[in-house]
Amino acid sequence: MNIIIIGSGIGGMACAATLANSGVKVKVLEQNNDVGGKAGNIQQNGYEFDTGPSLLTYPNWFDDLFISCGKNPRDYFDYIKLDNVTRYFFEKGKHVDVLGDLESTAENFEKELGVEKTMFLKYFKKWENIYEISEKVFLEGDLKIDFNFIKNAVKWVSVSGLSNIFKSMASYNKRLQNPELEKIMNRFATYTGSSPYETPAFMNQLAVVEMVLGGFYPKGGVFNLPKALESLCLDLGVEFEFNCKIEKINMLKNSIEIFSSQKKFSPQKLISNVDYYTTQHLLGKKSRKSRTVLSTSAIVFYWGVKSEFNQLKLHNILFSEDYKKEFSEIFNDENIPKDPTIYINISSKIDSNHAPKGSENWFVMINVPAQKNLISDNQIKLIKDLIIKNVYNKFDVNIENLIEFEEILTPNKLFKKTGSYLGSLYGNHQNSIYSIMKRKKNQDQKFKDLYYVGGTVHPGGGMPLALRSGVNTANKIINEIR
Ligand SMILES: Cc1cc2nc3c(=O)[nH]c(=O)nc-3n(C[C@H](O)[C@H](O)[C@H](O)COP(=O)(O)OP(=O)(O)OC[C@H]3O[C@@H](n4cnc5c(N)ncnc54)[C@H](O)[C@@H]3O)c2cc1C
Repeated sequence: MNIIIIGSGIGGMACAATLANSGVKVKVLEQNNDVGGKAGNIQQNGYEFDTGPSLLTYPNWFDDLFISCGKNPRDYFDYIKLDNVTRYFFEKGKHVDVLGDLESTAENFEKELGVEKTMFLKYFKKWENIYEISEKVFLEGDLKIDFNFIKNAVKWVSVSGLSNIFKSMASYNKRLQNPELEKIMNRFATYTGSSPYETPAFMNQLAVVEMVLGGFYPKGGVFNLPKALESLCLDLGVEFEFNCKIEKINMLKNSIEIFSSQKKFSPQKLISNVDYYTTQHLLGKKSRKSRTVLSTSAIVFYWGVKSEFNQLKLHNILFSEDYKKEFSEIFNDENIPKDPTIYINISSKIDSNHAPKGSENWFVMINVPAQKNLISDNQIKLIKDLIIKNVYNKFDVNIENLIEFEEILTPNKLFKKTGSYLGSLYGNHQNSIYSIMKRKKNQDQKFKDLYYVGGTVHPGGGMPLALRSGVNTANKIINEIR
């Protein structure tokens, strides 16, 4: 059996390693000259940046993959649990930290936001219960509707409560009666590129992953994760071909043909780690999908900043004034928000070699709609000015003249660099129960030898879910071959 995987993102390499470990011959074709896809890396002028993901959750899933392949994960990568996960900033001078354990976080909410600790812990218990069942229903395996699935799904509905399937996350969270805490909880919708004003209330369980299971940081930076997966693949005999952009896929009756500009490949099975909709284009299908089904995209500024900021932590959020308006602008008006929430990640807070001494590497991100349009220089300037003004208002520092290195990621650049359709971060958004249930499956409905892995298909976006989609799909194929 020879299998080709297009794309060396986290899902593609997790799939390749699992297959190779069971004796299957696997080749990975990658358009870029290095692995990682969205989880890429920039090293320039003494600064180092992770280009995409910055927060690691479920690091044990990464460990499990290495262990299942008979390897010690610590020979490949390591990580630390964060004591301080995220610092949330509100009006000037006011901030609150989400810490490494729920009790201390609840104490912080009581001290800084005036939210009764017992009330918050009670509110949170519900999501912990729902999360426990959801993991079994939605994250394990292939969403196959069998007896076990139905049994778990019935249990899930009874714990979630029917109303939380149809009520939005934001409307549920109003019961917290604290606008600042509501924003903190509503923000978890963005982990699936969705709007808290539309995604169902049960998605509040996403908070459990970060607030209970914890936030982690891979030592040396997030890029060490794809590099560790690449080493694992190489140790298991996976072959990589870089600078190999696939331009066309032909699924024929008894064979498969895939073409780069130079070569033709004929695997027995094909796995696409490329965004689901981009893969449909490679198959020659004219996707009629409107961009309104897609999750958010992002504009990211990678700034080398010639100063250090004690007020900032590894992960920082500067909330917009009107969170509801921000999401309405993104999803209803399809515009870049006028007053966006700003996320600042500074990995040099932990890995001091990510910036020259006395400087910091700022990854500054805002959410924007996935889009065809190129973002003009003028729009970029407006956003940059806005961020600089916001930072000034919060910290009394004008960073404009402190920025000595800059690179910018736009939806269009992300599309070109990683194939992510119109720059969407996670494939389809999850703004309704319908869109959640309609998530694309790991096996093509028509072509049984074509599979999909990665953050745009089941079980979902983000590094751990992309990894799991690769492992689940590989195991499905291994069972089929047997
Ligand atoms: C700005 C940003 C912030 C994020 N933040 C987080 C976070 O904090 N935590 C988290 O867990 N996740 C985060 N994510 C999401 C996470 O990065 C992704 O879900 C995950 O990395 C996706 O992996 P994947 O397996 O889908 O592959 P991708 O990363 O999508 O990789 C696909 C690969 O396919 C290759 N490819 C595409 N087209 C072709 C072709 N035609 N021929 C050959 N190769 C091709 C690409 O070059 C790429 O290497 C973030 C993403 C972004 C962009």
